[in-house]
Amino acid sequence: MTPENTREKKTEERQKFNYEEFEEVLEEIKDKDYDMVGLQGPDGIKPQLIDYADQLEEEGFDTVIIGASTFGACGIADEKAERMGADALIHVGHTRFLHPEGQDMDDLSVYYLPYREDRDLMGVLKEHYEEIDVDKVGLVGVTQYMDRADKAREFLESKEFEVVEGKTGLRTTEVGQVLGCDAGAAHNIAEKVEAFVFLGSGHFHPSQVSETGKDVYVVDPYEEHIWVEPANSLEDEMQAEYARVIKHKNKKKWGIVTSSKKGQNYLQAVKISKEKLEKHGKDVYIFVEDRIFEPDYKGFGIDIFVNCACPRMTKDWQDMAFVSPKALDMLDEVDIKHD
Ligand code: SF4
Repeated sequence: MTPENTREKKTEERQKFNYEEFEEVLEEIKDKDYDMVGLQGPDGIKPQLIDYADQLEEEGFDTVIIGASTFGACGIADEKAERMGADALIHVGHTRFLHPEGQDMDDLSVYYLPYREDRDLMGVLKEHYEEIDVDKVGLVGVTQYMDRADKAREFLESKEFEVVEGKTGLRTTEVGQVLGCDAGAAHNIAEKVEAFVFLGSGHFHPSQVSETGKDVYVVDPYEEHIWVEPANSLEDEMQAEYARVIKHKNKKKWGIVTSSKKGQNYLQAVKISKEKLEKHGKDVYIFVEDRIFEPDYKGFGIDIFVNCACPRMTKDWQDMAFVSPKALDMLDEVDIKHD
């Protein structure tokens, strides 16, 4: 390929992946006295990270890319970038994450470039809105589609739905935005709505919204229709966690796991869980690691661990028990007899 063709191809890709927001950041940082800029993003956009690095290098910045992908801005890697000499970090894919226990999330200058999914969300809503079987709704969704929340609201209102004024959650910065660990935007208005309209796909986020006790109408641009996540769909998982606590209630040694990722480092939760376990006579050991994988916790002679990191990892462990701090409430309900 000639240099000209390469340039044309890159221009095409840049248009395809909507690089305007990146270029705005580029304009902003050109005036700063930065030598090196870090880049971080989730799996799906790794080619764009390389292209962003090329553009930064063209502008005279050195770059460093964080190798591990990130599932959220909870895993902001500004400290890693700084260790490599970076003066700033561009975090691609997510909006700023607010720490629920109030810890500072940014030590370095961090620029957030939320990823917006280029799928026909409004087309799906327009074609299938009649399947939304209530009058008064809350409008929530994932970051990838929140840039279309205003349009969705206007459309629903034009079809005589009452769309209740939205709020932000505990960890989020966009009105109506939901994370796998934060459906606060929905909980904050749940009493005022009959159901939620959710902009996004998959069960992971809608199931969190269903914890409000309301059905969730998912406007799904991948499935190209609207489907319903029933109210309280996570209830079975919670019951399974209680069952794990009951199974291990007589075990003396318990572990608590938190993450060194800034947004998954929940020291208050660790403290409260430790106190609760000690109240029941347990010996408690606290563990920390960046990414949490079950095999790392084998061999300590501990069979049950409490998850004080990403709350949505709890269900992923297979061989050992992994439970949420909330599941420890079950210890108050059972007789405990240590060996
Ligand atoms: S669900 Fe987990 S990975 Fe996603 S933003 Fe929350 S803490 Fe991060």
